[in-house]
Amino acid sequence: MQLMTTYQDNNYPIIIQHDAIAQLSTFLSKYRDVVFIIDKNVARFHPTKIEQAKSALSTKQISHLISVEGSEQTKSFSVYESVIEQLLETGMTRNTCIVAIGGGVVGDFAGFVAATLLRGVDFIQVPTTILAHDSSVGGKVGINTPQGKNLVGAFHRPKSVIYDLDFLTSLPYVEISSGYAEVYKHALLNGPLALKDIEEAYPNKRALAELKQLDDFLLKGIETKLNIVVADEHEQGKRKFLNLGHTFGHAIEYHEKIPHGHAVMIGMIYQFIVSNLILDTRHDVQHYVDYMHKLGYPLDVVLNPEFQPLLNLMLKDKKNDQNGVQMVLLSEIGKPVVKHVDNTVLKTAFEQLQNLLK
Ligand code: NAD
Repeated sequence: MQLMTTYQDNNYPIIIQHDAIAQLSTFLSKYRDVVFIIDKNVARFHPTKIEQAKSALSTKQISHLISVEGSEQTKSFSVYESVIEQLLETGMTRNTCIVAIGGGVVGDFAGFVAATLLRGVDFIQVPTTILAHDSSVGGKVGINTPQGKNLVGAFHRPKSVIYDLDFLTSLPYVEISSGYAEVYKHALLNGPLALKDIEEAYPNKRALAELKQLDDFLLKGIETKLNIVVADEHEQGKRKFLNLGHTFGHAIEYHEKIPHGHAVMIGMIYQFIVSNLILDTRHDVQHYVDYMHKLGYPLDVVLNPEFQPLLNLMLKDKKNDQNGVQMVLLSEIGKPVVKHVDNTVLKTAFEQLQNLLK
């Protein structure tokens, strides 16, 4: 399957299929230097695929291989500095392409290296996690600072996204369920039919672990994200909808040190409660709690923290004020809205969430 972005210019293909990596050579032939930045776990699980990627080059091209950890520590100034210096030492020119092979961490990191090396070189995303169906599309790249996640970055579109589904076979369930949160989010943004389809396809943990039909849902997820991002690349309006579940999600992720997607799932339940409190909605919150339990999400982490530290984390976002936060809510499934939510409502919603999960 192949999609083409529909920006006004600089469009790129997104190829989603088994053995998609075989197509890499088509995109690399014009570069003098090709830098593979690879997640160490991916290299360990898929040595043949990595060899296949490297063999895409001709003998005239210069290949460089950099292995990094697939952890947030990679998205740091220190790793960035060391990689940039290593690359500059080789005397490479702007006729360079960086190929990111890994999950969201490697994609964000390698994309940021590409955006800044010699004022910008080309890059290609080869996502290897389910979550990276989201992070590899839309052009946001960056690293973290001690002050928070993704605070230094750029908008830098890849030249192509080559999503080889064979990589997903080695994902542990915790990464499957983490990545599924963003696929599920895209279904919630899409509408009731999309939601019904996805819940029917994955009614329980076993069905999700088998990853059946996943390519269809990844494609739909990418299409949903693209439609929003193409309309609003720099997050002036509609792109904010993609933050569904992320306001409370980021706070609980940071506070409890849980996987991004698990936190987003919890954030989406929280958002339903807030919607019922301040919009005229009657979301069946219990349905979502039951569904997440069937898929094995560890929702009880919500019982650990006090509200105040979570509120402090939510207020940190630059779009907020001291009285509350800007939050994406669903006025209906498929109908997101951005609302200012007062601290008192946030607290009541938190108490309701804890009561539901006791
Ligand atoms: P990740 O890249 O940390 O990967 C998760 C784990 O899976 C790591 O341990 C990694 O080594 C391992 N892994 C990767 N591929 C594997 C494979 N095929 N088999 C086995 N193990 C594999 O995490 P992620 O969930 O993919 O991405 C999270 C990151 O994405 C965060 O840093 C987040 O900020 C970022 N993100 C960015 C955007 C964006 O628009 N740029 C959007 C969403 C998330």
